[in-house]
Amino acid sequence: MRIKKGNLIVLSGPSGCGKSTISQEIMKDNKNIIESVSMTTRNIRQGEVDGKDYYFLSKEEFEKNIQDGKLLEYALYSDNYYGTPKDNVIQKINQGLDVILVIEIQGALQVKEKFKEAIFIFILPPSIKELKKRLDNRKTETNEQLFKRFQIMYKEINEIKKYNYVVINDILEDAVNNAKSIIAAEKCRVDRIEDEDINSLEEELHEILVQLDEK
Ligand code: 5GP
Repeated sequence: MRIKKGNLIVLSGPSGCGKSTISQEIMKDNKNIIESVSMTTRNIRQGEVDGKDYYFLSKEEFEKNIQDGKLLEYALYSDNYYGTPKDNVIQKINQGLDVILVIEIQGALQVKEKFKEAIFIFILPPSIKELKKRLDNRKTETNEQLFKRFQIMYKEINEIKKYNYVVINDILEDAVNNAKSIIAAEKCRVDRIEDEDINSLEEELHEILVQLDEK
């Protein structure tokens, strides 16, 4: 069989539900899966590295990328822009690598318009109270920022129905295993087989039949 295109895997869900951690764990065991590095206009947090965690841009630089059509999707989330650079994702998928996008819901819905065949996984916390506790412990947002994030969640939680899968992140290991199983199963879907692959199987079978017939 020929090298198939990679899959586009969209991981989204409320801020603080562990999407990034799950993505990192999935990649640890599989060199054929990579995570796209997003662009953002939000301030860099302590410990983050420009070009690794995000490309940190000014609002003007980000808007130039939008105008130049360089983004696969983007969203204004909690007063900052976030977006996925298009070229890198397309290139990696064409090389046969699976690409994970860890993005919020508005962006995920844009991807759904453009890449119907992408795999949409929604990560949920075991409960909203637990999520609040995790975000309080993370201490990366002010009370006002937390209010905005929960407000967004409240508005968007129904969009979960537009996803293909939901994974509850209660015990991290279980959540990672579930996400890995989804990705593995999706790779085996019959509708991902190209017609050309079936044609080449037919050709091989034909050759064998000719050989057998000649004996
Ligand atoms: P944070 O500021 O906590 O890093 O991210 C805020 C939200 O933006 C998270 O839900 C995160 O998944 C999402 N996000 C990160 N990168 C992108 C992106 O490229 N596009 C979109 N639409 N959302 C993103």
